[in-house]
Amino acid sequence: MLYFIILICIMASVAVVICIRGLWQIRQKARDQYLLDNVDPAIVLVQRQLYADGEFRRQVLSRSPMNLIGDRLRLECGHEMYYPSDMNSTHINCSRCAEQYLLTTMRAETKRKKQWINHHTIN
Ligand SMILES: [Zn+2]
Repeated sequence: MLYFIILICIMASVAVVICIRGLWQIRQKARDQYLLDNVDPAIVLVQRQLYADGEFRRQVLSRSPMNLIGDRLRLECGHEMYYPSDMNSTHINCSRCAEQYLLTTMRAETKRKKQWINHHTIN
């Protein structure tokens, strides 16, 4: 009987951890979407320049035909993307890496602003 109660407690603990983790991921996605919806135009301009300079240019590791006009590419960064089949580039700009740059920069900027507010607010 004691083993059964211990087993139930362990299972309940695992269920709680899974629920908290799921809620945390939902919260993080909502925060990321908020950041992308309210992006600082100055950061977008820097991102565009980096994109034009080839900062997000990645090597194509594999190409799989998906339909009549497009292929699925697997890039060296680990991202996959769809690309026109008639373009046989060995390196392409990864829009997911560019988006990740935007998110990372916005998170850092938000953190910096919060620290500034906390530092300059009289408690
Ligand atoms: Zn990428």
